[in-house]
Amino acid sequence: MNRREFLSKSALMAALIGVSVKVTSCGSDDPAAPGTGNGNVTGSTTDGGDHSHTGTITKAQLDAGNAVNITFSGAGHTHSLPLTNTEVTNIAMGTRVQKDFTDFQHPHTYTFN
Ligand SMILES: [Zn+2]
Repeated sequence: MNRREFLSKSALMAALIGVSVKVTSCGSDDPAAPGTGNGNVTGSTTDGGDHSHTGTITKAQLDAGNAVNITFSGAGHTHSLPLTNTEVTNIAMGTRVQKDFTDFQHPHTYTFN
C-alpha cells in the first residue's frame, strides 16, 4: 500500500468511526423523548381569559382511545373536559385538537398538542 492509498483508507476509517459514534450517541438519547417523556400529553386553555388551566391525558388513556373526561385544574377551580374517542386518537397521533367548551363555570378554549 502506498502512502496515498493509506491516507484515503484512513480517511474512510475516520468517516466510519464518526458515523458509528453518532449512531451510538443518538441511540442513548432516545429514551428522553421530547416533551414530558412519559407519553402523557398536557393540554391548556388558550382563550386568553383572566386565568388559565392545564390538564393531562395519560398515555394509558391515549393508548385506549376511548372517550374520556379530562380534569383541568389551576386558578382555584377545575373544569372537566369531555373528549370523544376521535379527539383522543388525534391527540395520541400528535394532531392539534382545539375545543371550545362551556361547563357550569364559564367557557374556555382547550388545546392539546
Ligand atoms: Zn376556568
